[in-house]
Amino acid sequence: MITIQHPEQMQAKAIELRQQGKRLVLVPTMGFLHEGHLSLMRIARQRGDVIITSIFVNPSQFGPQEDLEAYPRDFEQDEGLCRNEGVDILFYPGIETMYLPDVSVYVDETLLSRGLCGLTRPTHFRGVLTIVAKLFNICLPHAAVFGEKDAQQLRLLRRMVRDLNFPVEMVSGPIVRESDGLAMSTRNKYLTDNERREALCLRHSLDLAEECYAGGERDVSTILDAMQGVITGSSSGVIDYLAAVDDENLEAIDTIDRPALIALAVRFGEARLLDNTVLGL
Ligand code: AMP
Repeated sequence: MITIQHPEQMQAKAIELRQQGKRLVLVPTMGFLHEGHLSLMRIARQRGDVIITSIFVNPSQFGPQEDLEAYPRDFEQDEGLCRNEGVDILFYPGIETMYLPDVSVYVDETLLSRGLCGLTRPTHFRGVLTIVAKLFNICLPHAAVFGEKDAQQLRLLRRMVRDLNFPVEMVSGPIVRESDGLAMSTRNKYLTDNERREALCLRHSLDLAEECYAGGERDVSTILDAMQGVITGSSSGVIDYLAAVDDENLEAIDTIDRPALIALAVRFGEARLLDNTVLGL
């Protein structure tokens, strides 16, 4: 595995590898890697010849009051994990090489980014789309792998690839969970022991939604009310949103008569946790 820190060097390497006929697959991350990230690297391995993993805590996707400073980092541990997974290139750029002081161009999306996380994080997706567009231009991957845990992000990135004609195949990997069902997340580190126990209600509420749907329930408010009951009845979690939206365009729906994304964001102390499931596929 080689580690590259400078974008120009990374781009030159990518061009060289493409000229050799290699198929490049990128797994973008913000580091502090866990099994969720590693599962994407294994998917990447099946999809190409050269796996590139990027580690970059992207400041432009954090709001002014958010956890950019506190976000966990452990480069040495990440490096070892990447090596073990057979990553070929670790791209680990510095902030100053990724954002020049007078940066003035960003990628904005105007529909899918408005609801769900966009309601409380109005500049978040602009930051995500911009950094992924930059990573695509720097790493020149044939394919890129993203996790279904960040459901809105994944749909937005697919939309960006479609609308801006990026020649990148978008691949997704299923949500990886702890053995008790909590979706793995770097931000789980913020949970106290009690919050960690309480956070299991997220998976339980999604289980209930799946059971309701399997039992023939199609009314969204009935399903969401039942989910809300599970969360508020068994935890101190503060619901940021709990929503059922069209899986494709993320518009709110009343009835599950097409594939529906059931998505939630709930705060437990310092941690804002996301989880989701898709019904009616
Ligand atoms: P992050 O480092 O949190 O920005 O995540 C990097 C990538 O890993 C994104 O595509 C995430 O969706 C994905 N990811 C994070 N957690 C999980 C998980 N529990 N299961 C699957 N993918 C995940």
